[in-house]
Amino acid sequence: MPFLQPAPQLPQPYRADPALRGWLRRALPREVLAELEPSLAEMGDLALALHALSLEDRCQEPRHVPFDPWGNRVDRIELTRLWREAEPIAASRGLVAIPYERRHGAYSRIHQAALVHLFHPSSDVYTCPLAMTDGAAATLLASGNQALVRCAVPRLTSRDPARFWTSGQWMTESTGGSDVGLSTTEARQDPDGAWRLYGRKWFTSAAAAPMALVLARPRGNPPGGKGLALFYVETRQADGSANGFTVNRLKDKLGTRKLPTAELDLDGMAATPVGALADGVRAMAPMLDITRTWNALTAASLLRRGLMLARDYAGRRFAFGATLDRQPLHLDTLAGLEAEAQAAFQLAFHAAEILGQAEAGAGEPALRRLLIPLAKLTTARQAVAGCSELLECFGGAGYVEDTGLPALLRDAQVLSIWEGTTDVLSLEAMKAMAGCGFPAFRCHLEALLPGEGQAGPVQAVRAALDRAEAWWAGAEPAGARRFALTLGRTLELALLARQARWALEREQDGDPARSAARFQAHGVDWLGSGGIL
Ligand SMILES: Cc1cc2nc3c(=O)[nH]c(=O)nc-3n(C[C@H](O)[C@H](O)[C@H](O)COP(=O)(O)OP(=O)(O)OC[C@H]3O[C@@H](n4cnc5c(N)ncnc54)[C@H](O)[C@@H]3O)c2cc1C
Repeated sequence: MPFLQPAPQLPQPYRADPALRGWLRRALPREVLAELEPSLAEMGDLALALHALSLEDRCQEPRHVPFDPWGNRVDRIELTRLWREAEPIAASRGLVAIPYERRHGAYSRIHQAALVHLFHPSSDVYTCPLAMTDGAAATLLASGNQALVRCAVPRLTSRDPARFWTSGQWMTESTGGSDVGLSTTEARQDPDGAWRLYGRKWFTSAAAAPMALVLARPRGNPPGGKGLALFYVETRQADGSANGFTVNRLKDKLGTRKLPTAELDLDGMAATPVGALADGVRAMAPMLDITRTWNALTAASLLRRGLMLARDYAGRRFAFGATLDRQPLHLDTLAGLEAEAQAAFQLAFHAAEILGQAEAGAGEPALRRLLIPLAKLTTARQAVAGCSELLECFGGAGYVEDTGLPALLRDAQVLSIWEGTTDVLSLEAMKAMAGCGFPAFRCHLEALLPGEGQAGPVQAVRAALDRAEAWWAGAEPAGARRFALTLGRTLELALLARQARWALEREQDGDPARSAARFQAHGVDWLGSGGIL
């Protein structure tokens, strides 16, 4: 018999995640955690089952069906099996609904974050439409347009799979996804006052969703972002036909291959203004806070999934007379990845915490505008670098498609592109820093630092803050990325130090402290670096 290498086995993702469980024990009141825990354990079981299905379903991709058998233009998109199964799971478990039900006040966002953390790596990126659905619900609620709120929000936040709707966000055009002010899609008013959209949307990921929020320029409005308005569209008419759009094609992408990202032509699509007939980019702000937080959560979850598989594999793979989990250098590589994964996890969950506090009427909006972009850009870069390194832990098997492992890296790569590239978000972070002021950021981090213990990380945080503040005094755009990554990593170290202190004091657990020390050794001050992870 030739040698057969046992495949890595995924453990139950909730039970096997001490970082998640320790964080929840520290952050949640005991009775809240007791209430949430059954749903987390259940999602761990579901994630295990979906992981197996994802491997089986690996070669399936969504399909654009332009015509029905009789030649009628239908522009339907057929989804993959896992996506069809993921939707009722996501709806019934409240992946979008939970923060709107607010059963646990500000902690509801934490509950949702923990479910997303478990669900995402097994979902073939079904979290993309879920994130936009969550963002659309928040955007409509913030708009105050009661007619649209009544019509759409109960569906977007429904736990009933038969009523549940996902939503797209159609912003990017071929002229630019970062500079959406260049958008050319036009909104024209019919004589009866109804609005219709005309133009081409270049990346629309929830192309199969029943509704979308769309940026378009009302005819006669000035150029630039301020001239755009936000519109609500339902993608299907009452008879099921497309509402004034055609799908030109689905994009052939590096990753997120189960996600149907379409190029659309809008040719008289009936639309309703969400609010004012200008300033649409600003009206989208609640969407972006939410999708960027989901982005950070999914980045951290991919690192955790890769580490779970790599750890398991290390116990099964022999080289030079011992399994990898007995080889100090391999263990050191895993420890470095663990530190980055825990740092990303801390920052992603901090973003969810901040979002939950904002929804409960607490927190400082100016600071939130800085922290959420920092969380998104920092964790996305960590996920890309970390998932690349994680594939190497499997040697050649990590490069072979039917192990399912390469999808980790391919799906991580998009996280630093959509919802704002690293550089674009770094510039946004600078703008946000001008709004809240450096002292507010420093104060936020000081409040996280433990009063005692963790001297090394605490000193490193303060030293990085001093350097960043000095840089900020003469800030120039060319350094924005190095500055933003320094802020993001410094915040991560402060969060790790807080967790480390708590775990040592309350649970005599030294693991978080080891990760904090290791992360500190990786460096948080990137002002002098190339800014490239
Ligand atoms: C898989 C996938 C799905 C997507 N789904 C959607 C969707 O559903 N809806 C949607 O609206 N969009 C979607 N997008 C689009 C995505 O949001 C954009 O691709 C992204 O915002 C970048 O825009 P762009 O592609 O036009 O690149 P550009 O904006 O042209 O950026 C090119 C480069 O220029 C840099 N750059 C731009 N401006 C500056 C600056 N001022 N200073 C320094 N550097 C700068 C960027 O950082 C980047 O490196 C999706 C993209 C992908 C890959």
